Amino acid sequence: MKHILNPDIYDVAVVGSGAGGGMAAYVLAEAGANVVMLEAGPMWSAATDGDMFTWNYASPRRGARSKEKPFGEFDGCIGGWEIEGEPYTHAPGTEWDWFRARMLGGRTNHWGRISLRFGPDDFRGYSLDGLGDDWPIGYEDIAPWYDKVDRLVGIFGNRDGFYNEPDGDFLPPPAPRLHELLVMQGAAKMGIPVLANRLSILTKTHNGRPACHFCAQCGRGCATGSNFSSPTVLLSPALGTGRLTIVDHAMAREITTDQEGLATGVSYVNRNDMQEYTVRARTVVLAASACETARLLLNSTSPRHPAGLANSSGAVGRYLMDSTGASVAGIFPQLVGRMPYNEDGVGGAHIYIPWFGYDQQRDFARGYHLEIWGGRQQPGYGFMGGIHTVNNLFEDRPRGGGGYGMQLKQDYRDLYGSVVGFSARGEMIARYENYCEIDPDVVDKYGIPVLRFHVRWSDEEYLQIKHAQEASRSLVEAMGGEVLTPMPSREEGYGILAPGQIIHEVGTVRMGDDPAKAPLNAWCQAHDARNVFVTDGAPFVSQAHKNTTWTILALAWRTADHIVGLRNAGAL
Ligand SMILES: Cc1cc2nc3c(=O)[nH]c(=O)nc-3n(C[C@H](O)[C@H](O)[C@H](O)COP(=O)(O)OP(=O)(O)OC[C@H]3O[C@@H](n4cnc5c(N)ncnc54)[C@H](O)[C@@H]3O)c2cc1C
Ligand code: SF4
Repeated sequence: MKHILNPDIYDVAVVGSGAGGGMAAYVLAEAGANVVMLEAGPMWSAATDGDMFTWNYASPRRGARSKEKPFGEFDGCIGGWEIEGEPYTHAPGTEWDWFRARMLGGRTNHWGRISLRFGPDDFRGYSLDGLGDDWPIGYEDIAPWYDKVDRLVGIFGNRDGFYNEPDGDFLPPPAPRLHELLVMQGAAKMGIPVLANRLSILTKTHNGRPACHFCAQCGRGCATGSNFSSPTVLLSPALGTGRLTIVDHAMAREITTDQEGLATGVSYVNRNDMQEYTVRARTVVLAASACETARLLLNSTSPRHPAGLANSSGAVGRYLMDSTGASVAGIFPQLVGRMPYNEDGVGGAHIYIPWFGYDQQRDFARGYHLEIWGGRQQPGYGFMGGIHTVNNLFEDRPRGGGGYGMQLKQDYRDLYGSVVGFSARGEMIARYENYCEIDPDVVDKYGIPVLRFHVRWSDEEYLQIKHAQEASRSLVEAMGGEVLTPMPSREEGYGILAPGQIIHEVGTVRMGDDPAKAPLNAWCQAHDARNVFVTDGAPFVSQAHKNTTWTILALAWRTADHIVGLRNAGAL
């Protein structure tokens, strides 16, 4: 393989263009730094490459999912659970499903846009229950950057003042739809709180981007730029400064270092010509997603960093976390045969059930929230799991399963939109023994050693999901519905999904004040190499039940501001 050295020396090299990389590049380029960004995938724009306006019936596959497109044929993501030529492995008896995007903007092109702040308790879990560790920062340290993210990106919500769910600088939320009103009624009977959801979707024109027109196709990438994606909101203005250079198809292999152990740049394989290149930079920012960032550091060995860059603590790859997850759905007779009405809305729920068990006696730590789904959106192939499966649930529907002609059409009209479900997303405890490392025997098609995962749920997570199952089932009943599936047993893990499945990977390169225990300091700067920073989910010390991206964005902005300060002070 030929090795090609780029003659330019940039101020900063950023690896990855998703939430964390996009934010770092935006702030640094705006502040005057010359930034080069390495992105493993191709350039991609929702406006020109997305399928927001395509009807499912325009395709013979009717929008069905496939191995290459696990979230549906028109989903706005290049990547998936398996990528050809890029394997990962598992230690026996352990699990981790690793979803990877390979495109400009990463997973932000099709993410769910649930944009929750961590609350004060989420930064001090150890002090509250003795599990995991506290963060070296508290909510008050990150709050100003959450505010900045709210104002730049745009987010809707209500100022509810709910415990440990800090309010933000919100745009008005959209009104609840029929199935969401039903959830609110059932929750009120049980004393469960329901808040307006907090999604980074514009309900008003904001910073030159138009309001959402309620097509509900956010997962395909928003062609009008009305929701958050890194290319639309961050990379586009960063490119406008003239100080950001994006190198696409650049699969970073390792961070190069000098004799002092400081970073000098990044070497990468160009996926088009399969040659190896190096870009040089005074500062390196890693944001390739938590596991990939750990992989890069572990693959960057040198005499000064024999166990991998920034890894004198041995903690790189450790404390890997995802959210816990399980779903429960019910069918609601009162929604069968209802009158059609305009229930358009954003691509996501308009309401949200926060963790409601702070005061309860319980046999597990931390908590979960419930995400709500239902209603009538554009149907695709196999929607509702097949009409026959739903029709069969009603004893008074004598024709039973499927059918054809007028009757089948009437069944669709009657039954579509009569199922409502809840997805629990809970906090996993950070544990040293859940980790990824370099597999000594396997390389990917670029010759880069791959990750081997060692992750298991503990009783904390199983019992938490048991609680979520029971609460969701009671909620369905309180709403007057019938749960569609039996309660999973202990042996079935109470229905918990495999770790990784919720796609909230965080941990692996945690922050902490003690260099013997944590690779990064409280500014996400490597203790072992002062010009190396991490701005994806890797620095998280704990996970919280909240979806991760708003905290990634706020931390990334805070870290980038710190880099600007250090550069101005001549300390980088
Ligand atoms: C379907 C789905 C729904 C989601 N819903 C939500 C939600 O509602 N709320 C929420 O908070 N979060 C959600 N998430 C998670 C969210 O997408 C991530 O938290 C966020 O995108 C993480 O940002 P990141 O910068 O770490 O990684 P990414 O956005 O994945 O970006 C990483 C980038 O690095 C690039 N890259 C990787 N390896 C290399 C390499 N070696 N060299 C160069 N480039 C590389 C990738 O191509 C990618 O572009 C969801 C994710 C998915 C997939
Ligand atoms: S629902 Fe709104 S934000 Fe989502 S893709 Fe449609 S217009 Fe864009």
